[in-house]
Amino acid sequence: MGLLSLGTPLPWADAKQYADHVRQHGITQFLNIWDRLKDRQGDELLWGDEIEYMVISLDEENKNAVLSLRQTEILAKLQPLTSEIDANTDSSVSVPTFHPEYGRYMLESTPGSPYTGSIRDLLSVESNMRYRRNLARKHLKPNEIPITFTSFPRLGVPGVFTEPPCDPADATSSHSLFLPEEITNPHVRFPTLTANIRTRRGSKVAINLPLFIDERTPRPFVDPTIPWQRNIYPEDPEARNGAALNDHIYMDAMGFGMGCCCLQLTFQSCNVQDARRMYDALVPIGPIMLALTAASPLWRGYIADVDCRWNVIAGSVDDRTEEERGLKPLKENKFRIPKSRYDSVDLYISEEWMNRPEYNDTDAPYDSCIYDRLRKHGLDDRLSKHISHLFIRDPIVIFSEMIDLDDNESTDHFEVRPPSAPPSNIQSTNWQTLRFKPPPPNSPIGWRVEFRTMEVQLTDFENAAFAVFIVLLSRAIMSQNLNFYIPISKVDENMHRAQIRDAAHSSKFFFRKSIFPPASSRASTASSSGNVTPIDGVNGINGHVHGNGNGTGKKERHLRNCFPPIPPPEEGLPNGSVEAEYEEMTMNEIMNGKGDSFPGLIPLVEEFLGTLDVQEPEREKFASYLNLIRSRANGSLKTPATWLREFVRSHPAYKFDSVVSQEINYDLMVALDEIERGVRSAPDVLPSDYKGGEADQGSLEKY
Ligand code: ADP
Ligand code: MG
Ligand code: MG
Ligand code: MG
Repeated sequence: MGLLSLGTPLPWADAKQYADHVRQHGITQFLNIWDRLKDRQGDELLWGDEIEYMVISLDEENKNAVLSLRQTEILAKLQPLTSEIDANTDSSVSVPTFHPEYGRYMLESTPGSPYTGSIRDLLSVESNMRYRRNLARKHLKPNEIPITFTSFPRLGVPGVFTEPPCDPADATSSHSLFLPEEITNPHVRFPTLTANIRTRRGSKVAINLPLFIDERTPRPFVDPTIPWQRNIYPEDPEARNGAALNDHIYMDAMGFGMGCCCLQLTFQSCNVQDARRMYDALVPIGPIMLALTAASPLWRGYIADVDCRWNVIAGSVDDRTEEERGLKPLKENKFRIPKSRYDSVDLYISEEWMNRPEYNDTDAPYDSCIYDRLRKHGLDDRLSKHISHLFIRDPIVIFSEMIDLDDNESTDHFEVRPPSAPPSNIQSTNWQTLRFKPPPPNSPIGWRVEFRTMEVQLTDFENAAFAVFIVLLSRAIMSQNLNFYIPISKVDENMHRAQIRDAAHSSKFFFRKSIFPPASSRASTASSSGNVTPIDGVNGINGHVHGNGNGTGKKERHLRNCFPPIPPPEEGLPNGSVEAEYEEMTMNEIMNGKGDSFPGLIPLVEEFLGTLDVQEPEREKFASYLNLIRSRANGSLKTPATWLREFVRSHPAYKFDSVVSQEINYDLMVALDEIERGVRSAPDVLPSDYKGGEADQGSLEKY
């Protein structure tokens, strides 16, 4: 999210009257973009990561590690600083940008300008991330640390877990029994989002994560830390009335989910067709990478039996009414909606022949009036379904000053456009595993795809490894016309499996068996992007021409972004049973290969790297990234989630009762920081030659 300017947000009772207005104008705004930019061609690969941090305040005397709620002050220091760097450095340095996030203890950073597809840029990602972390660190108090950690283990415990300490009794937006109002970014958008989700739903959100039952966990486990007797909001009796399940960790507020940190990547495609193809190809990769990056087994002072954040966030913004959730017959609402607005992708969108209609096999309700309008305007069936499916949701935050907008100038009813304020928008409050991002108006930015499932990793070495891996995989997909399609119902099942304890090593995932297109469809990669007209001087940007298969055999030092459409197979379109196309594979098989029958994603990426002009030291760096991922997949390195669970269970103060005490949490936070900096080794999760973030201070000295 960009900078959020102030306005007057409407409470839900008022906002809902404008829902149709916003939807109608949101579609007009989308169509305006579509008309202007649907034929935009030849954009180069620009891409970027988003990394989220928690600021932890260490109280050594009391052995307590708590969340520092100083986001506003810290950003006030970091944001002007980055413009200063901007002014003082040569333009080849990517100047970091820091953004606010939902949690008042969170920071988000992005490279100030996107990376290109040059090998040099790929190899700058890690030091770019490190630079950002060190910059943030430098502007914290001496007892504060920035950690890239998915879920804070003691968020919402009784007692002190924030600095300054706050009382949940004043949780006016969330009505939470556990999280104080002050946990939320004070910008009016965030408390309004929180309150309006709760009011639209008709009750507080309710998340129940299965508890990890240890040797001495009382059974049934009835959580003694839930303040059942508190009756501040008499209209919210849910915990008492059964919203809190036994043997579960109960969470009742948006902050538990939106207060998590993750690693996201956005890629610019050559054109809208390629963006749609890439979006689809990455849909089945989403749950696989979620399981492989799993890093959040500790919640509200307990060990959970899940490893990932996803379902917590989905539950934390689930604004569906009882009618929409299927608990009551439809009366006030139009649709029964199977999923939260934060959940996995429901529809593939590419028009390529590989995308068989059978793959969209789940119940994905869509607004038929909007669908008809899009079709009449000339949009194809698949994109019309995608958009009209997103538009079954209501806009949650509407600012009274921003209801009537110029649909030619603004897209604010469609999506947020940093740095302006988001008045209300449908696209940006549909938080799915992938996001298809149309170009913002009046900007040089093209059609993009965002990959959103990964949990943030403890070190920038790991974050860079996963970021670079996905970029390279995306090139392997596009250059070899790889086909990863499986039915969406199977991707959903994989999302479910990915979150179960130790999924990366104990679970199997549905994956497509045959990922290469028929021989007659492979030929397309042999020609370079000759059929597209470059804009922005793209192909000449670094004095190179895109395309590694241009007939000369010359290897490139720049990733190509434009790919011709995949020719349909001469033998006709596939019409066999979809069920025969996939099988269950282990993580190791998916990533590292399965004998002769499946190549594995890492070998595919290695093969792709072999087509590039990579020099020796560069090759080593790429190899270290792939080794990390390979080792995670084959179990020789643990996932962060497994490591974290074991850290707690082997702590001398642990009582085998599933509780993450203040002392254990303190020692864990200190350990995480030391591991990241390289002053403590963690051979179970990191390669033995990991040097630590302090080894690379870059040009930080000056600032
Ligand atoms: P959001 O929070 O809406 O997902 P952010 O602005 O936080 O978006 O992050 C967007 C990411 O996309 C950043 O890493 C940025 O560097 C990158 N980016 C910026 N411009 C482009 C572009 N033209 N193509 C691809 N990525 C881009
Ligand atoms: Mg962002
Ligand atoms: Mg973010
Ligand atoms: Mg994002």
